Amino acid sequence: MDVSDQIKHIRATLPQSVALVAVSKFHPVETIMEAYGAGQRIFGENRIQELAAKQPMLPGDIEWHFIGTLQTNKVKYIVPFIHTIQSIDSRNLLEKVEKEAARCNRHIRVLLEVHIAQETTKHGFSADECRTIVRETQWATAYPHLILAGLMGMATFTDDKQQVRREFQSLRTLFDELKTTGAVGDSFAELSMGMTDDYHLAIEEGSTMVRIGTAIFGKRNYKTIH
Ligand SMILES: *Cc1c(COP(=O)(O)O)cnc(C)c1O
Repeated sequence: MDVSDQIKHIRATLPQSVALVAVSKFHPVETIMEAYGAGQRIFGENRIQELAAKQPMLPGDIEWHFIGTLQTNKVKYIVPFIHTIQSIDSRNLLEKVEKEAARCNRHIRVLLEVHIAQETTKHGFSADECRTIVRETQWATAYPHLILAGLMGMATFTDDKQQVRREFQSLRTLFDELKTTGAVGDSFAELSMGMTDDYHLAIEEGSTMVRIGTAIFGKRNYKTIH
């Protein structure tokens, strides 16, 4: 199946309320255009240089989501066009994105990344850190250019489905808790969880946004630059 067929196939299996982020990292602009041609508008990338190189070559109505490790000194390269940063994993990063967004006079949606996996290589706040940030920050005063749009998480890379399910459940529980405490506004509505291997499970556990690369574009060739 080609990219266009894969997009249509996946869309057909997703509930209408679940958004699809097509993760196009390591794939060239031609391949992204195939997905675009099939109606896909939300794309995710995880490397600054690659995204900054591809974005000007692609249509302006693409909604770009950043999903990778973001160094504060590189924030400025994506702030002029990024729609959502899903991988906010430190206060420093919030400060920096706010500063750059103010400079560009833009409003950027951010998701707090929560560390739910067992691997220590994965990034994110602990649930407690997340609670503290949400409860103790006067958001509109501290970050007037950032829209707190929800949470993102990655489950452990394992065949143990029960473990993956538990991790998604823990994120969902935190998400619901933050929403019901009233510490967040109406824009806090996205629960970004689920990738190629685990998105069915993630949807069962309440995901509102899945990030799918391999199932759409095939295997990534890590040797190509972009
Ligand atoms: C690469 C990546 C994905 C997509 O992974 P697939 O297994 O190819 O679907 C999703 N989320 C993040 C944060 C990623 O880095």
